[in-house]
Amino acid sequence: MPAPQPDFGGPADIAIVGGGPVGLALACQLLRTTGWRIVLVDAATPARAARDPRAIALSHGSRQLLEQIGAWPVPGSPIEHIHVSQRGRFGHVRLHHDDYGVPALGYVVRYGELCNVLERALAQAAQTAQAAGAGQLRRVFETRIERIEQDPVPRGADVADAGIVHLEGTGHDGQAARFAARLAVQAEGGLFHEQAAHQGRGARTRDYRQTAVIAHVTCSRPQPGWAWERFTEEGPLALLPHEEHGTPGYALVWCCPPEQAARRIALPHAQFAAELGQAFGDRMGQFTLAGKRHAFPLGLNAAPVTVNGRVVAVGNAAQTLHPVAGQGLNLGLRDAFALADSLRGACTPQALQTFAGRHRLDRAVTIGVTDLLPRVFGVTYPLAAHARGASLAALACLPPLRHALARHMMFGMRR
Ligand SMILES: Cc1cc2nc3c(=O)[nH]c(=O)nc-3n(C[C@H](O)[C@H](O)[C@H](O)COP(=O)(O)OP(=O)(O)OC[C@H]3O[C@@H](n4cnc5c(N)ncnc54)[C@H](O)[C@@H]3O)c2cc1C
Repeated sequence: MPAPQPDFGGPADIAIVGGGPVGLALACQLLRTTGWRIVLVDAATPARAARDPRAIALSHGSRQLLEQIGAWPVPGSPIEHIHVSQRGRFGHVRLHHDDYGVPALGYVVRYGELCNVLERALAQAAQTAQAAGAGQLRRVFETRIERIEQDPVPRGADVADAGIVHLEGTGHDGQAARFAARLAVQAEGGLFHEQAAHQGRGARTRDYRQTAVIAHVTCSRPQPGWAWERFTEEGPLALLPHEEHGTPGYALVWCCPPEQAARRIALPHAQFAAELGQAFGDRMGQFTLAGKRHAFPLGLNAAPVTVNGRVVAVGNAAQTLHPVAGQGLNLGLRDAFALADSLRGACTPQALQTFAGRHRLDRAVTIGVTDLLPRVFGVTYPLAAHARGASLAALACLPPLRHALARHMMFGMRR
């Protein structure tokens, strides 16, 4: 039986729009570390997340964050080694988990499994907070927020105390839904092609003219624990160790021009697997397609600022990244934890500014790296390919540089 929903008898302290992995993690950490009353509104139900086909590479740093909120383990496959190379060119880099004293560099999990574990951790955190009389959670499903408006702060009033955010939307039955809170968090995520229309002026936007074809594949010579990132002239191709419905294999993320993606999605299974073999090489033997293929258009959308008065954006609502190096959700989780940390003492616009200031560098570096990689590796001049090969070779030969990059991919600027 669902737990009774608390009635705050007035505005909530914090309204979170979007119960994807970032919104769920944020609500969980807020309940654990603050006493705020939270309303978490999602357009869908948890069952929708379970159907999302994405396999996500979570870094070791994200595992540490999820452990803090009791949302670990998530069923998945460890990445112990990563091999980065260019298709048909010299230069490669290998990363090994034991160079960093971690059991795995990351873990490949299904989006839906992660959301399930987060849902359970959130229910537990809500129960504990309520029992302790510190913090409350109200969940609202199947309600899409369409408008967020802030009261102007009356002249002379203290901005920390005055002002309310009003959220308006529509429930699944078509009824209007209204919420009020002292602060609102936009965690409504989204994908590049859905967001292009609603990014504000000044957003950093780039259409990579690439679509990710994702699928589960198996191969005749698997190499357990290894993940592969291979830059091809069409875009990066990643194979991540991953078990799907009990079948060990690889999660494929094959970034290529949209028309190629459409063609590959329509290919017969055997032909698709053969093309994958041509693009990746024969290191892992022959591929077999073991599941449905899905397409995700790719682009960068980064809001110039994440805070506007009493409203803050986190996760994909703040930035949608190219999936190269698997950073989108990892950065989103760091957004959530950094925000929760800033809201420990006060639920005010100033606390949001503190969050934005502290987190700015992590966000900027992660966006910069994930924007640079597909563009640099997309240049087709032969000289550029040599320069990239030389850079990969330099990374392989210069451990401090390699370690700095690997640590950023695992932890961001968090440590
Ligand atoms: C092909 C592909 C591969 C990827 N691989 C990786 C990877 O390996 N590693 C990695 O870290 N990241 C990866 N990402 C990125 C990752 O999927 C996203 O960064 C992550 O899902 C963002 O989480 P989120 O909670 O911010 O948003 P979402 O996952 O989009 O969740 C948003 C939630 O908000 C709800 N919602 C939406 N609009 C509204 C509204 N108006 N009102 C109320 N609720 C609303 C939705 O129902 C949903 O539950 C990949 C992305 C793609 C496309």
